[in-house]
Amino acid sequence: MSDERKNARHKAAMEKQKTKVDANIDAADEERGVAILLTGNGKGKSSSAFGMVMRALGYGHKVGVVQFIKGQQLSGEEIYLKEHCPDVAFHQMGTGFTWDTQDREADMKAAVETWNFVLPMLSDPSYDLVVMDELTYMLAYGYLPEDEVIDAIRQRPRSQSVVVTGRGGGSALQEIMDTVSEVKEIKHAFKAGIKARQGVDY
Ligand code: ATP
Ligand code: MG
Repeated sequence: MSDERKNARHKAAMEKQKTKVDANIDAADEERGVAILLTGNGKGKSSSAFGMVMRALGYGHKVGVVQFIKGQQLSGEEIYLKEHCPDVAFHQMGTGFTWDTQDREADMKAAVETWNFVLPMLSDPSYDLVVMDELTYMLAYGYLPEDEVIDAIRQRPRSQSVVVTGRGGGSALQEIMDTVSEVKEIKHAFKAGIKARQGVDY
């Protein structure tokens, strides 16, 4: 095929595509915050959530972040937010991973404390974005009542977006979220014996 014909075909295909995209843009006319669930076994859930934190901060939006498990291990996002973004409300559960602590009652207490930190944000319209990192595990372990979590997300201010990360999450949570993305593991460096990397994995 000549270059001229290739170019003409490309132009026609792009025009068709543009008509479709424009129609979809016109159809999406509802203006409100979105609830996003990032789940699946692959790497990239929390990193994606913190990508949205950066986006929101770029526009001067008000952001709250809670991390439901982590703690022992310091993370780059925690260091950065604490040092450079004092306006971001940040809270970490701070008990370490459940398989480290093996103390269900202490974990549960910490989960409820963390939930009590984020709950007021979910009814405060001044927050544009609220991130609940690793929240799904609290539901899976039964550390937090699913109904209460779901109600709080559903009843949040109209302008507020929320991001929940973690594997699983359950169908009831998936049902009420506007966007659900599953990060699929194709391969992970760790499984090839490569150590978790500062600034990349934590
Ligand atoms: P990240 O924080 O890097 O975006 P994530 O939030 O998708 O990862 P988590 O299950 O929260 O995944 O795990 C956090 C840590 O575990 C990170 O250090 C990440 O690199 C690592 N990790 C994530 N997925 C896998 C996997 N499939 N195998 C091994 N390690 C993983
Ligand atoms: Mg994560």
